[in-house]
Amino acid sequence: MNRTQNDSPRADRFGGGTRRKKNRASNPYLAPKAKRRMPWAIPVILVCALFFCAGLSVTRDYIDSQHPDIPIAIVIDALFLVPIALIIWKQIRNSAAARFADKLESLGEYSVELLNLDGIMQVTNAASRLKEFVRRGLIENVVFDYEAGLLILPLNSSDNTLPPEPITIECPGCGATLHALRGVKTKCEYCGRVF
Ligand SMILES: [Zn+2]
Repeated sequence: MNRTQNDSPRADRFGGGTRRKKNRASNPYLAPKAKRRMPWAIPVILVCALFFCAGLSVTRDYIDSQHPDIPIAIVIDALFLVPIALIIWKQIRNSAAARFADKLESLGEYSVELLNLDGIMQVTNAASRLKEFVRRGLIENVVFDYEAGLLILPLNSSDNTLPPEPITIECPGCGATLHALRGVKTKCEYCGRVF
């Protein structure tokens, strides 16, 4: 269907910085899981950091006194870093997913060529990263059409009508029953007709 706008990629990439942030809560491509706030994150990080510092001084005492349990002290102390690392990793991942969703929404196109995705997202391996976000439930409402080499964005409705709903249609070529999205071009999996 629609192709990437090769004539104005700069406007897509750099335009609308403030507008994009405002729309994040209502971004249809960002899954609720990625939008969820983590008010407990900072308190948990502070408590874990406190225990880590306390554990560090215990470990230091053990080392000074040549205590036989030095390895155990080090392992236990390091465990307090695990929740901190997990929270930071989750935050980084969620904001990366949000940046993807921002760009998908601001594209305003029904479909983009997978080959152009790296350029649009300004990252390498954008398609596989996007697939990973979908697998982890952070991004939704995107369809990979590998046969056509397209990423379908069914909610990017250029005429601002209702988002396309899943429909069952009959192929005009071979009569097979197919599942499609209303208003989105479909290729018959049996006879190859595009309509
Ligand atoms: Zn057919």
